[in-house]
Amino acid sequence: MIRLVLVSIVALAMFSVVAFTAGCETTEATTTTTASGATAEYVVCSHCGEFKGSEACCAEGAEECAKCGLAKGSPGCCKINKDGGDVTLCNGCGHVKGTDECCAEGAKTCDKCGLAKGSPGCCKIGG
Ligand SMILES: [Zn+2]
Ligand SMILES: [Zn+2]
Ligand SMILES: [Zn+2]
Ligand SMILES: [Zn+2]
Repeated sequence: MIRLVLVSIVALAMFSVVAFTAGCETTEATTTTTASGATAEYVVCSHCGEFKGSEACCAEGAEECAKCGLAKGSPGCCKINKDGGDVTLCNGCGHVKGTDECCAEGAKTCDKCGLAKGSPGCCKIGG
C-alpha cells in the first residue's frame, strides 16, 4: 500500500517536471545561419537595415522605424545611416568593421551571443 502511494508520488513529480519544462520554452532569438556554414560576411543594406541577400532585405511592406527610416528591428535600425552606404559587420565583435568600436577593448560582451552588447550584430549574426 505504502509502495503504491510512493509510486504515484514519483509519477506525479515526473509529470510536473515535464509540464514545467514544456511550459518554459526559451525564447531565444532565431539566428539566421547561412546554409553554407562558411564564414559569411555580414553586410547590412543601407536602404533597409537588413542583411544584404537576406529575404528581409528591401522586402516590401516592412515596418519602417520612425527614427531612422530603416526596417524596424533590423540589424542596422538606429545603428547605421540610411543610404549612407552598405556596411560590413565584424564577425568578431558585431560592430561595423573599421569603426572605433570594432573590437574595442573593454567593450561589454553580450552573454547570449558573445559579441559586443548592443552592437548591430549582437544576437543577429552567428558568432
Ligand atoms: Zn535592403
Ligand atoms: Zn531605427
Ligand atoms: Zn570587430
Ligand atoms: Zn547578443
